[in-house]
Amino acid sequence: MAAPMNAARRAALVKGASKAKIKARVDLAGCTGCEVCISACPVPTCIEPFGDDISTRGVYVNFDLCIGCKLCVKDCPWDTIEMVPTPTVEGQVTSLESAQVHETPIFEHIDLLEERVKAPLQQKGIGADNGLPSR
Ligand code: SF4
Ligand code: SF4
Repeated sequence: MAAPMNAARRAALVKGASKAKIKARVDLAGCTGCEVCISACPVPTCIEPFGDDISTRGVYVNFDLCIGCKLCVKDCPWDTIEMVPTPTVEGQVTSLESAQVHETPIFEHIDLLEERVKAPLQQKGIGADNGLPSR
């Protein structure tokens, strides 16, 4: 897990990312948690990892930080990231809320996520029965 970012720096990054017309969305069904995308992403803490074994490992994109540069899409060895129009993810905090992840292990292990990420998912009923809002 990356070190917490200075609040002023994060606010500046969020302001820049607010202009992006597209955002990166990870489909956990294909994500292996290899973290190649984290290395490719120019924005610190924009893509974050979770899980500690092969059955639970994955990454998610913080939509408020994504600048839509597509570098992660180009580098992902498993083609499991796609760019989506920003309005389609409005109100969502991370890509966990919009991926088709009914079959993926993370929602059986939602406690793996840090509180900041977990709380909005639980408020929407995600994780309780692996139910998800439609994309
Ligand atoms: S590069 Fe692709 S497979 Fe690897 S962690 Fe990122 S999204 Fe998942
Ligand atoms: S599109 Fe760019 S900013 Fe957004 S997650 Fe991918 S590499 Fe990071």
